[in-house]
Amino acid sequence: MIYTAQQLTNMQQFSIQECYKKLTGENEKVNWSKFVWNRLTLPKHRFICWLVMKERLNIALRLRNMGITDDPLCRLCGIEDETHLHLFFNCPFSLEVCKSISKWMQFELFGDSIDSSCRKVLTSRRSRFQKQSLLAVLGAAIYFIWLARNDAVWNSKIDIIRHNVHRIQKVCVIRYGALEIGAVPGIKYMHGELNGSLRRHNLTWKHIRKLIRNRYILNL
Ligand SMILES: [Zn+2]
Repeated sequence: MIYTAQQLTNMQQFSIQECYKKLTGENEKVNWSKFVWNRLTLPKHRFICWLVMKERLNIALRLRNMGITDDPLCRLCGIEDETHLHLFFNCPFSLEVCKSISKWMQFELFGDSIDSSCRKVLTSRRSRFQKQSLLAVLGAAIYFIWLARNDAVWNSKIDIIRHNVHRIQKVCVIRYGALEIGAVPGIKYMHGELNGSLRRHNLTWKHIRKLIRNRYILNL
């Protein structure tokens, strides 16, 4: 029930917009759209984050419930059941990655879910641009935690935390660098391609680092 009979009786004006907000949950809608449509987040990162939000990734507990595996334990730590919340926000592996990334960003980026992490960013006293960069790093972190988990499943190896953190940093810096020199958002820029573009713009990595440090508050 959206409104009680009493609320409807006392209502001076019925608003469809208010009704919609009540149905969808206003905060959640805002957080999701800003996160999913953030131009700084790479499309493949957005896609994985969207699946995490919908709890649609094929994590161990889901596969166990579907009768595909007997083992519901987390593939990274082997301690707790692998749920979406555990894998990305409670697993010791992910917590270490998040800790290093938060230190790099000089911002406690991670909450206990995507929703609370988005809320932290969106309610912070940062500029719109800085909020976008924080959300892009959040998306990259989730994407690379998922890759690390799949590496454990398919290749039976777990790379060290530092390497995973480095990958997250690198992909964000390349993305930001690409945007700084006017590359079309959505294009996947690799390090070599970006080097070529920088040369064409008479820019060096030193320029880009300075720009990024100023605009994105990254600790480069
Ligand atoms: Zn775990």
